[in-house]
Amino acid sequence: MNHILYPVEELTESMDAKASIQIKDAMIRTLLTDSRKLSDMDQGLFFALKGRRDGHTFIEEVYNAGVRSFVISDPDFDHIKFKGCNFYLVDDTLKALQNLASVHRSKFDYPVIGITGSNGKTVVKEWLYQLLAPENNIVRSPKSYNSQLGVPLSVWEMNEENDLGIFEAGVSKGDEMAALAAVIRPTIGILTNIGEAHNDGFDTLEDKIAEKLKLFEGVDLFIYSCKYLNQYTGELPGTNKFTWCYRDKADLEVFDDEVLEDKYQFLRARFNDTEVEAVIPFTDQASVENAIICWATLLALGYEPEEADKRLEKLVPIGMRLELKTGINYCSVIDDSYSLDLSSLAIALDFLNQQNQHSRRTLILSDLPGIDSPEVYEQIHQMIENKSVDRLIGVGPLISKYGHEFSCEKEFYESSEDFLQSFPSIKFGHETILLKGARAFEFEKISQLLTQKVHETVLEINLNALEHNLNYYKALLPKGKKVMAMVKAFSYGSGSFEITNLLEFNKVDYLAVAYADEGVALRKSGTTLPIMVMSPDSMAFDAIIENKLEPEIYSMRILEEFVSALSRKGHKDYPVHIKLDTGMHRLGFMEGEVEQLLEYLKDNKSIHIQSIFSHLVASEDPEHDKFTEQQINLFSMLSERIMELYNYHIIRHISNTSGISRWPDAVFDMVRLGIGLYGIDLSIRDKSPLQTVTSLKTSISQIKQIPAGDTVGYGRAGKMPDGGTIATVKIGYADGYSRKLGNGIGSMLVRGKKVKTIGKICMDMCMIDITGINAAEGDEVIVFNDNIRVEDLAMKMETIPYEVLTGISQRVKRVYYYE
Ligand SMILES: *Cc1c(COP(=O)(O)O)cnc(C)c1O
Repeated sequence: MNHILYPVEELTESMDAKASIQIKDAMIRTLLTDSRKLSDMDQGLFFALKGRRDGHTFIEEVYNAGVRSFVISDPDFDHIKFKGCNFYLVDDTLKALQNLASVHRSKFDYPVIGITGSNGKTVVKEWLYQLLAPENNIVRSPKSYNSQLGVPLSVWEMNEENDLGIFEAGVSKGDEMAALAAVIRPTIGILTNIGEAHNDGFDTLEDKIAEKLKLFEGVDLFIYSCKYLNQYTGELPGTNKFTWCYRDKADLEVFDDEVLEDKYQFLRARFNDTEVEAVIPFTDQASVENAIICWATLLALGYEPEEADKRLEKLVPIGMRLELKTGINYCSVIDDSYSLDLSSLAIALDFLNQQNQHSRRTLILSDLPGIDSPEVYEQIHQMIENKSVDRLIGVGPLISKYGHEFSCEKEFYESSEDFLQSFPSIKFGHETILLKGARAFEFEKISQLLTQKVHETVLEINLNALEHNLNYYKALLPKGKKVMAMVKAFSYGSGSFEITNLLEFNKVDYLAVAYADEGVALRKSGTTLPIMVMSPDSMAFDAIIENKLEPEIYSMRILEEFVSALSRKGHKDYPVHIKLDTGMHRLGFMEGEVEQLLEYLKDNKSIHIQSIFSHLVASEDPEHDKFTEQQINLFSMLSERIMELYNYHIIRHISNTSGISRWPDAVFDMVRLGIGLYGIDLSIRDKSPLQTVTSLKTSISQIKQIPAGDTVGYGRAGKMPDGGTIATVKIGYADGYSRKLGNGIGSMLVRGKKVKTIGKICMDMCMIDITGINAAEGDEVIVFNDNIRVEDLAMKMETIPYEVLTGISQRVKRVYYYE
């Protein structure tokens, strides 16, 4: 795990840079691209990438954190003011990063497997890692790092102790693969598949294939399925080829498949003129195909068919997702207990570091399997120290042996059994716990002890999707405009600090809640962002001031009351937000009241007007566009009159989610992003660029056969004239599943198939008609996700998505995912 150290002088040429080197003896080991995720400052090299945000603007912050070497592309950047630094000036910082990774790649001549395709890249990569790990020391892409940035960062992980590399590459449009190919330079190529549905970013299927195949130019061995390439007219890469197919001529020709005991796929195939077989512990089509690709790879690499079968049978699902859950004794638990290596540990530590809800952080860490080296544990010690872990609980003989490397509060256990036995006497409370263990340590048992038992209806929240949606709206805004994220009503039902930690990490400018106690809760969970309270009550003014919350001032009465609260406490220049009523007629000063407001404000020193805002009543609806325009104009006029009174800058804002989408000229200085964050925008009719954030899942308690003519549920409403099969599931109207969805109006997904409710919805349960579906008790049932959309459910409930999301009861547990 000793990474090559590069002398700073050597990098000038590798990156084709103009350099100003002040620390000549510095060495570079770690590439840094995100100012929020820094490590190894002494030997780090920061790339000022030009993404949505210009990396140059973070150089000062990165410098202050201790980094001294930088790659920049802006020739006018004032680097002179950073004393004692190394600066490399290049044309394009991302290209320079790729070039550097390519130079690094050239130092190694062990085999490298390159994987691309429309789907399954990450699964195939992780499974090959599982299958080939017994005799190889493998370096691979962390998670699904397969982009223009992810690939060079992955390849940079290669070191002398490895003897095999596995990297994935993904492209979304033409002309991207060549750059990735130059970095990975695979010796073995695997094409997983080619999706036909939409030619995402390519004119024709042929173009798409040609682009993907660029990864494999010059490989010794190319592994693919004829079924994806038999229409392709171009030349195929690879000195040697190995093909697989279903019922068609190929090196591995699968001719029979059969599901065993509901959970295994038994496959038979012809290979080298003999019959071979494999049992795969999955039955869904995508997993089976991914497993066949792995099977083909093992055979192509020369593994005996019996050995391949033995290994395939032990494949386990890949756990790429971090799960954030509520734990015992007011803890938060981050569960990442499926794999362990240094790069995934770094990612998990970053996520731990983003959690502000508790000041104390504990890491429960197993051995890195098979790695008996003091340097590695010293490196882990540094990573832990950088990410301010307060306590380490080490599990395993190796981490125990190297326990002296760690300087934080620490304790060690020889095995998971030892830990589990001592569990009752270990203190956990009011802290964030990261569980990170190699598979063999079976940390899922620890996870069960640490997390609260869940009522089996769960709302899953995909934090990556939320991040995506935030970035989507940010990209619509002109440079320098601010974002206020609306986190009222428990972030539209999706959570509190779990959401605000992510928003704070992604540098939104403001948070807004409806009531003071929501703001107080967020403060208590550690957010330092400014928080606007939209419906402040005079009873809550003390709490508002104590917690540095900023009230919305919507009337003379509330203004006078707040000012007197401020004077009692001797406050000056307290930030407040003036709300104007431009047509909503809910809260706010009406046009006719502005004179009186100005008169009052003239001599007042106790408040500082942080922002002036108003709310659009129908920004999503073209039918009311005239009215929206009037609102915007009135707001513009009234807010200017107030601003004239002050010689400082006041933020103005009027747009909600669909305002951002439909009224680009009404951004003013800030927008208030609400439901769009959570994946819904009523102004977007067709293909949505947003990602689904929330999925509601429940499970089957009981399955029964209903004789013809019987009825199901209360009031005999669920009629089954022909009889059939029903399943009782654990969700009812007390969970937020409306009674309007009974009697076949609502649908759910069971084993991928859409089924209807039958009979009336009960308080805690309801029944679905699963006639003809091969389901089992305990099966997962999807209530909504990206296939059963909240928008459709809302329509059937005769309401809007806002009410569906906020109506999901608090007894439904929330689980957060981050990849
Ligand atoms: C809830 C709310 C928003 C956000 O609206 P979305 O349609 O969810 O984006 C914006 N401003 C005010 C005043 C709100 O109450």
